[in-house]
Amino acid sequence: MVRNYKSPLSIETVNVDIPRSTEVRVRMVGTGICHTDMVFREGDGFALPAPCVLGHEGAGVVESVGAAVTELIPGDHVVLSFHSCRTCPNCIKKLPAYCFNLGPLNYSGGRNDSSSPISQGGQKISAAFFNQSSFATYAIADQRNTVRVPKDVPLEILGPLGCGVQTGAGAAINSLRLAPGDSLAIFGGGGVGLSALLGALAVGAGPVIVIEPNETRGKLALELGAAHVINPMLTGDVLAEIKRLSGGGVTHALDTTGLPSVVAVAAESMTFNGTLGLLGVPPVEASLPMNMFSMLVRGAGAKYIVEGDADPQIFIPQMIDLYKKGRFPFDRLITKFPFEEINQAMHAAESGAVIKPVLIF
Ligand SMILES: [Zn+2]
Ligand SMILES: [Zn+2]
Repeated sequence: MVRNYKSPLSIETVNVDIPRSTEVRVRMVGTGICHTDMVFREGDGFALPAPCVLGHEGAGVVESVGAAVTELIPGDHVVLSFHSCRTCPNCIKKLPAYCFNLGPLNYSGGRNDSSSPISQGGQKISAAFFNQSSFATYAIADQRNTVRVPKDVPLEILGPLGCGVQTGAGAAINSLRLAPGDSLAIFGGGGVGLSALLGALAVGAGPVIVIEPNETRGKLALELGAAHVINPMLTGDVLAEIKRLSGGGVTHALDTTGLPSVVAVAAESMTFNGTLGLLGVPPVEASLPMNMFSMLVRGAGAKYIVEGDADPQIFIPQMIDLYKKGRFPFDRLITKFPFEEINQAMHAAESGAVIKPVLIF
């Protein structure tokens, strides 16, 4: 748990509640580490009250269910994703990533009634992070954000489908709606960017150009099927290179960096009627660096995307289906660590040494 912000996490013994009416208690098998966990560990801007338990890419086995749970039974293999309310206008429109209650349901540190499913010696510990707090051997979630998965796929690697992989692949498939004949420039070859690459290729789009300074990640992008990788540290004019490789500009671009200088290049990289998807967390004070006249004459647009526009109950099974057919090898992005090495795993992701760490329990 996070005892103090900006410090290594500690592993401690706590009490995890029994599930309430629509809740399930899940024994964790593998939990991915996502950039958002590091953001909340730092405690600036985004934070849960400390001490808190993070983790939001959990996969495990249902251990017990509340009295009103209809969708799941003990023994089910599940992936935990973000929570949504089911009743607001966007949930009714099947757009749970834009749920009006996304903040309170995922980042408040507790349930709606401000109780927490985790305590220690009678003291409340902030939890219910993405309604799961899955950096723990047991997690409480709701049946709404718990997705049953088939038992013939390795459960321990499925957690990242709940957030990071869903975000990248969903951006390519659900948001940009890529199809054969579309070209894509992906800015940033981390877990989200390479998941977008896999999503684009799974639906037959291409060529895909990945812009990434880390040589190891660039090499993996090529192995996974990127047509070209541009190292911006070794390329004088990245925009000119994208235009040269794509014959005048790409139909779609995706920014995973949140850096204004990168978004400025992404906005100019598209040809007529192009669309730019924006996923990266920007500096809080930044404005979009786009030339309005240049966007106008190309009819180009930009859109921020949350959780890959995915309904996890639909999209996670879709990704697993593609994986089983060999068309979505997201396991290539994963490096496993024992749960006890959570701080080393976070450091390995931050240094760029690994792309997607998964903690194994
Ligand atoms: Zn809602
Ligand atoms: Zn995440």
